[in-house]
Amino acid sequence: MTVTRDTVLDWMNRFAGEMSEHRQELVRLDTAIGDGDHGTNMDRGMRKALEKLSGSEPADAGAALKTVAMALISSVGGAAGPLYGTLMLQMGNALGGGSEVDLESYAGAWRKGLEGVQARGKAQPGDKTMVDALTPAVEALEAASDLDAGLRAAAEAAQEGMKATIPLVARKGRASYLGERSRDHQDPGATSTYYLFKSAAEALAG
Ligand code: ADP
Ligand code: MG
Repeated sequence: MTVTRDTVLDWMNRFAGEMSEHRQELVRLDTAIGDGDHGTNMDRGMRKALEKLSGSEPADAGAALKTVAMALISSVGGAAGPLYGTLMLQMGNALGGGSEVDLESYAGAWRKGLEGVQARGKAQPGDKTMVDALTPAVEALEAASDLDAGLRAAAEAAQEGMKATIPLVARKGRASYLGERSRDHQDPGATSTYYLFKSAAEALAG
């Protein structure tokens, strides 16, 4: 099994659907420990991304991810837009122009994406950010021996990482301004990252 351009397009369609469906949930989470815009940011960014994808006919998986990245970077003002943009830009660059991506290259691209997010945002695991969902998910994919099971394990690991942000005190982003008061809330960015992996696993399963 491999990841192709069409798998990435299906993934982005599903992720945009999740961001639209869960916009209010993400707004509610961000209202508790931020400024309440994460749901609207991600929904707007992914709508733009779908628009760009339908107008551009990307040649391969890497080009599709780069198109999404540029749409997110240019249309989302908050912290998460540029961070998701960086994730997808680094993934797209790592995939290059290959038409069929195997597990090893795919896991490698996610690792590059995570490194990009951390280079840009300086967050470590435990800082209560999207990195807390991304890190265990990328590790699960790297440990997998087949793509389909690997992505399902990654989605589960992202969900665990998301839930594990609840007791944490935020050390990065707006939530960090709250100090102790950020405890006992689930991080919005870790939540959208769970949906990113959930939709990737579903797109691969078809
Ligand atoms: P903003 O905080 O600018 O309003 P969003 O509300 O769209 O942007 O996104 C907030 C999410 O972004 C947080 O829940 C967190 O997961 C993520 N985030 C914020 N700062 C960082 C950072 N430095 N590194 C990684 N993720 C971050
Ligand atoms: Mg916000």
